[in-house]
Amino acid sequence: MYRINNFNPGPAALPLEVLHQAQDKFIAYRNGMSIMEMSHRSRDVEQLFEETQQIMLEILGLDSQYQVLFMSGGASMQFAMVPLNFMSAKRNGSYVLSGSFSEKAYKEAQTVGNAKIVASSKPQNWCSLPAVNDLRVDPEAAYLHFTTNNTIEGSQFHDFPSAGSVPLIGDMTSDLLSRKMAFNEFSMLYASAQKNLGPAGATVVVIRDDLLKACVNPIPTILNYKTYAQNNSLYNTPPVHSIYMMKLVLEWVKRQGGITEIEKVNVQKANLLYDVIDSSGGYYKGFIEKPFRSMMNITWRMRDEELEKLFVQESELHGFDGLAGHRSVGGLRASAYNAVPIQACKDLAEFMIDFQKRKG
Ligand SMILES: *Cc1c(COP(=O)(O)O)cnc(C)c1O
Repeated sequence: MYRINNFNPGPAALPLEVLHQAQDKFIAYRNGMSIMEMSHRSRDVEQLFEETQQIMLEILGLDSQYQVLFMSGGASMQFAMVPLNFMSAKRNGSYVLSGSFSEKAYKEAQTVGNAKIVASSKPQNWCSLPAVNDLRVDPEAAYLHFTTNNTIEGSQFHDFPSAGSVPLIGDMTSDLLSRKMAFNEFSMLYASAQKNLGPAGATVVVIRDDLLKACVNPIPTILNYKTYAQNNSLYNTPPVHSIYMMKLVLEWVKRQGGITEIEKVNVQKANLLYDVIDSSGGYYKGFIEKPFRSMMNITWRMRDEELEKLFVQESELHGFDGLAGHRSVGGLRASAYNAVPIQACKDLAEFMIDFQKRKG
């Protein structure tokens, strides 16, 4: 079966094994029904949720102080829910700005109220990351929000902020399960599924009980984290199929040896591409300063837009997809999420070297 070398930023590549498993069960999950035809109130779906929640906590190494919630609305809905649930006139929402998605989160918080920037690399055009080891965060702040991997620009935090007693909230949409992190230093983390976790539709929120208790604002039921926690994420009809696929992906992650083994491969994958960039004599120019480069989204530019366009066109003829940079920044981007096989990165590295030989 032909599989394209898929470097799309999201929705993105899924493990072939997982697609086959889902295909096998597509028509009959159990009892002559597809999972898509079952009531979300059925025991099957309840059990599916419980098992998915358990595997998630197990892979992250988190204990029962944390709850796993499933929602819709993507990471973008979390941008709104976080301030709605936790921010107040007295307690600001503090933000580290490191790329366009973190700025979007901050702007959404501004519509709710008291949002504050505590560090930003916008003046550097997002080419580096702000220092976060010595942040001045108001000790009364409701939370400190930051984005562990900046999907559009291609940067990734290797040092994490510590804000004392202020709860740390991480948007991990584009690097959850791709590398080891001190997950237990977060009061909450969230990710929409379509980068590392499964098909679009579901968003996962992992939240610690003490932060959950702090949701005291009078807000609509559907936007309150407590509603999801108290109803096992079954208050309204959730995206069941997307969550089922997430479970298959989590089981796949376990079979690979968990995050530790996945990370080793991800480092090799990213290095294959960065090595080509760095040894191209400036033909390929990395967008991000070296210490801040992302292992998930590898970004670079070329001499001019015309050549970049030609690169994308030719890459498509050679069996690659998704290499054009985000429309807001241009250039090139290879998103090498967990499910992208190392062979795809080898093929791309080879293509880049060959392209330079032919057109350089
Ligand atoms: C993709 C992405 C988002 C937006 O996710 P949606 O599911 O489209 O709302 C937010 N943050 C990060 C870091 C992302 O990579």
